[in-house]
Parts: sequence; C-alpha cells; structure tokens
Amino acid sequence: MEQFDVLIIGGGAAGLSAGLYSSRAMLKTVVIEKIGFGGQILVTDEIENYPGFPKGIKGPELSIMMEEQTRRFGAELKYEEVVAVEQLNGPLKIVHTSENSYCTKTIIIASGGSHKKLGVPGEEDFSGKGVSYCAVCDANFFRGEEVVVIGGGDAALDEGSYLTGIVEKVTVIHRRDQLRASKILQERALANPKMDLLLSHVVEEFRGTDLMDRVLAKNLKTGES
Ligand SMILES: Cc1cc2nc3c(=O)[nH]c(=O)nc-3n(C[C@H](O)[C@H](O)[C@H](O)COP(=O)(O)OP(=O)(O)OC[C@H]3O[C@@H](n4cnc5c(N)ncnc54)[C@H](O)[C@@H]3O)c2cc1C
Repeated sequence: MEQFDVLIIGGGAAGLSAGLYSSRAMLKTVVIEKIGFGGQILVTDEIENYPGFPKGIKGPELSIMMEEQTRRFGAELKYEEVVAVEQLNGPLKIVHTSENSYCTKTIIIASGGSHKKLGVPGEEDFSGKGVSYCAVCDANFFRGEEVVVIGGGDAALDEGSYLTGIVEKVTVIHRRDQLRASKILQERALANPKMDLLLSHVVEEFRGTDLMDRVLAKNLKTGES
C-alpha cells in the first residue's frame, strides 16, 4: 500500500492550497479529488474577487493554474473518490478510495460543500450563467439588472437586501404564504422600495440561451404559471 505523509481529501481551492503548502514543506503529499480539480471554482464563470487578477479570471482557468502550482512541488493528484477511512486514532491511517487504498500519517479534509439545489430544469445548465448561490460573490455581475431570490428565511432576505444596493430590483419568491425570516428582516424587506415579495409561488424552470434570462414560477393558489 502506497504511503504518504499527508493525504488531502478534496481538490478544490482549499485542498490544492493545502497540497501546495505540504509538498513545499517536503512532505510526501497526495490530493484526492472525485470530480474535478478546482472544485466549485470549476463551475464558476468569472471570478472577480481573487487578488492578483485585476481583470478577473475564468473559474476553469484559475483551477488549471492552481492544479499546476500544486503539482509543481511534487504533490500527487489523483482522480478518485474517498469512500472510507480507517484507524483514525493510529499513527498510520488507512484511506480507501473507489480504486485504491492508501496509508498516511495525516489526513486533511477539504471536501468543501454543496449548495442546496431546487432541482428544476435549467438550474444546472445556467449555474454560473445567471443562476448563483452566493450574493456577495456574484452580485456585481447583475449590477443594474432585475434579480430573483428564492426562499423565505433569514438568508433569503439578508442576501436580497444586500443585492438591492447593487441591482435594479429584487423579487423574493417563496413557496409559502408567509415568510419564515425574523420579523426585523421582514420589516426591512417590506420597507425597501427595491424589494418585492412573490408569496405562494414556486420556481419551475430557468430559461435562456447562453445566459439565463427568464424564471418561470407557478402560483400555488391559482395553479397559473
Ligand atoms: C457558481 C459559484 C460561483 C462562485 N463564485 C465565487 C466568486 O466569485 N468568488 C468567491 O470567492 N467564491 C465564489 N464561490 C465560492 C467558492 O467557489 C468556494 O468558496 C470555494 O470553491 C470553496 O473551496 P473548497 O476547496 O473549500 O471547496 P470545494 O470547491 O467545494 O471543493 C471541495 C472538493 O472536494 C471534493 N470532494 C468532496 N468529497 C470528496 C470525496 N469523498 N473524495 C474525493 N473528493 C471529494 C469535491 O468534488 C470538490 O471538488 C462560488 C461558488 C459557486 C458554486
């Protein structure tokens, strides 16, 4: 069984950075990634808030550069899925992947996260092309445009109110006939002239050509789309 000093689970920005540091420290390092090195960055069209790229950079391009930089100091990068870990308390831990088993002194978990999806048609296709899961990251792409925020909790109203400082108008779509958000956020939303509420509606589809430009919603009370 191949042995490493450091085994990193996940090859997103965090895992590749960890791999860069540990391989530069002359530790025998492997980064294991199940989908694509770069992680969420891979599905991000344009990144404008990463220092060193004043004109912004495409997510896939940044992913390739990060991958290259991590390889440069000798880290091994493997396309496999970690499925089990054994002997966590022992000096040597065993990591099983979809294809192999490895022995390692240290494990770094950088498996990231994934956003809660609606699961409607068009969502995957337009992810990073009009469908976003992070207002702070992406608001600038929608400057001066009309934006829809889906949800009725604190996060939806918080992100929605942040967006009103940048975009033309925000419509919050929520499936229930009342919001779940705290009262203070609801009051602020109602008082915000740039924020509209569309209650008892569910989003059914995202449409567009290259970029998403239409959101289809259904009125749950009347059944109309
Ligand atoms: C559409 C979109 C736009 C974004 N825009 C921006 C932006 O403009 N600016 C910004 O700062 N941030 C942005 N973000 C957020 C940013 O991409 C994330 O904060 C960042 O990628 C997190 O990095 P990470 O390495 O922690 O996790 P991730 O990128 O999630 O990487 C974790 C990796 O671990 C892998 N993994 C998980 N489990 C296993 C396993 N069992 N075995 C092997 N591999 C595994 C996953 O496949 C994944 O590749 C955006 C995110 C999205 C989705």
